[in-house]
Amino acid sequence: MQTFARSDLDALRRYADATAQPVDLTDNTNQWGSPPAASEILREGGAVARYPDMYGAAMKDAVARVVGCSVQSVVTGNGSDDVLDCAIRAFGSPGDRLAYPDPTFVMIPVFSRLNSVVPVPVPVDSDGAMDVDALLATKAPIIYLCSPNNPTATATPENAIRRVLDNATGLVILDEAYIDFTTTTGFAREAASRSNVLVCRTLSKAYGMAGLRIGYGVAHPDVIESIEKSRGPFKLNLLAERAAVTALSHDRDWVMARAADAIEHRERFAAELRQLGLPPLSSAANFVFVPTPRAATLTLALETAGIGVRLFVNTTRFGDAIRITIAPWPIMERVLAVLRAAA
Ligand SMILES: *Cc1c(COP(=O)(O)O)cnc(C)c1O
Repeated sequence: MQTFARSDLDALRRYADATAQPVDLTDNTNQWGSPPAASEILREGGAVARYPDMYGAAMKDAVARVVGCSVQSVVTGNGSDDVLDCAIRAFGSPGDRLAYPDPTFVMIPVFSRLNSVVPVPVPVDSDGAMDVDALLATKAPIIYLCSPNNPTATATPENAIRRVLDNATGLVILDEAYIDFTTTTGFAREAASRSNVLVCRTLSKAYGMAGLRIGYGVAHPDVIESIEKSRGPFKLNLLAERAAVTALSHDRDWVMARAADAIEHRERFAAELRQLGLPPLSSAANFVFVPTPRAATLTLALETAGIGVRLFVNTTRFGDAIRITIAPWPIMERVLAVLRAAA
């Protein structure tokens, strides 16, 4: 059939949705659930006949208080996916290059291509951390950084990140989706006073609210203004925004306690994996990345047991690998039982 769609879409695939398993450890969401105060607000519901605030003013206010920046330094989005997409569109002219660590968040090359920006992969180091000097050396007008990096889970030292922020000649996007699992505060506050840095965060991971689709970015007000032009109005739905504001203001203790649980379970799980001869990379997030030539076989064995994990085939540096989200211990024990039986 004749197609009238853009010809460059031929090179892209829809996000592959693997068959959902009863236990879903594929997407690094919070396996302990959603925070209590935000959940209560959702149960209360509310009137939805009117549009929400165009740019998410209440959410901006809550973020500004958490980060310690002005509301003019905050952009909100339908997930941080949306913020990333809008930023690439706002700062990348057609044909511009975007340098990114490889492997990293799978949507980055996709958003680049959809915005007619050329993705330039830069292999991560042998420990899974970004090669910041190689990223800088591309002199790309947009550099995407991710720390802790998805899928390798590796954090990049702050001084290495700062080297990019100090020396980049264009926009630096720093994705801090997993910042709540680290002991560092990240660069959000600093981004507000720099001219070329956007820090992106999400409520989908540590905050346990992936289903609501809430993300945000922090940058200089001029950067924010450009991103909001490409974003357009009404990206946050009214009830989701209300729950997000509540989570940021009242659920911080719950979020930090569950993040601590995830870290404790991660270390225990990683030790067991090493015993099994399946050593993961050192993780600073709520998931582990396990390079192994048996990745496909192990993924199938886990799926047969009703447990979904994310299979990566032929990644740069690490070849085949599985990424496993950390969950309460009885679930990790089930994963280990399958892996032991498959050993
Ligand atoms: C999950 C994830 C996101 C997307 O988060 P949403 O807010 O749900 O769109 C962005 N970046 C990284 C690195 C992620 O792992």
